Amino acid sequence: MPRLLFVLLISFAAISCARTHDVSAQVTRHVVLVTLDGARWQDIFGGMDESVLRSTMGKDDDVTASPSYKQFSGASASERRERLMPFLWRTFLVDHGFIAGDRSAGSLVSVTNRHWFSYPGYSETLTGEAHDETIKSNDAIRNPFPSVLQFARKRLSLQPAQVATFASWGVFNEIVESERGATTVNAGVAPYDSPSLQLQMLNAFQRETPMPWGNTRRDAYTFHFALDYLTRVHPRVLYMAFDETDDWAHEGHYDLVLDALHRTDGYLKELWDALQADERYRGTTTVIISTDHGRGRTGDEWRKHGKDVAGADEIWLAIASPDSARRGSWRDHPPLFQNQIAATIAAALGLDYAEQNPRAGKAIALRD
Ligand SMILES: [Zn+2]
Repeated sequence: MPRLLFVLLISFAAISCARTHDVSAQVTRHVVLVTLDGARWQDIFGGMDESVLRSTMGKDDDVTASPSYKQFSGASASERRERLMPFLWRTFLVDHGFIAGDRSAGSLVSVTNRHWFSYPGYSETLTGEAHDETIKSNDAIRNPFPSVLQFARKRLSLQPAQVATFASWGVFNEIVESERGATTVNAGVAPYDSPSLQLQMLNAFQRETPMPWGNTRRDAYTFHFALDYLTRVHPRVLYMAFDETDDWAHEGHYDLVLDALHRTDGYLKELWDALQADERYRGTTTVIISTDHGRGRTGDEWRKHGKDVAGADEIWLAIASPDSARRGSWRDHPPLFQNQIAATIAAALGLDYAEQNPRAGKAIALRD
């Protein structure tokens, strides 16, 4: 055998071995991304914030008499957060995954964009990079930058149906893909077709129920449409984007923010149970949960976000993966950034996101 050919064969064998080895070491085949718009890390880690609840009531009102207080108060942060999000804190983070972003414990997760509102946050999450000069409003303008959803679809040679987004906010139509139709998107008050009579009825209700925030629907529709899609179509990548945690905060209804967090925790449980009940997803699915931006800390500031609101760049993220043994609150890590989520999604699928965007943040290590 000529020496050059021999060397080529040996290197080729080495490369394919390395590839085979990498892929076989990794168990994840599916990714589910979930975002809770503008959900504060203070509420996720500390549960009901009594000072915030108090700020929404009259000076002489008894805060302890309010239904929110009765339902969600507790002697310690861990007691309160377990009452607010029991599935997240008692099951998801105990048996399946980890969470970062508890600043009271020195765990830092931040956005890198300078706007601190929704479109820039979601674009940073999905493209792996802040584009402060281009992505600077919440207007329904097509994202010029391709997302990790498009990258996964292309590199895994998937049909558009296999990479799907269900979102309460209509602008997700524009955010998640630079090319309309590259993936599947059902956002805002878009109708949803299903052979299920129950889902047909939900679809009719959505059409007949006035939505209070323009092209934004209640999260219940988003969740049930997405769950139906998951169980029927079995996408490789599914993104569920909830919005009520932000809408109620802007309106100053902290009680309804707490209700939304509690309800979304129930959705997370239903989602998790559906994944475990399906042999295609069980043990092969990485679930990533995060938010697009933070909000202010106290007083009236908790209602708001944006570059002038201190703390609105502070976010959190939770991951459960069959490829990670890390559990509970993750603390001893370098600061993490929103621009790492795209590469983390790609890496979970065995892909290197730098192929699409070399400037993107690096994947978050799932192993210590
Ligand atoms: Zn937002």
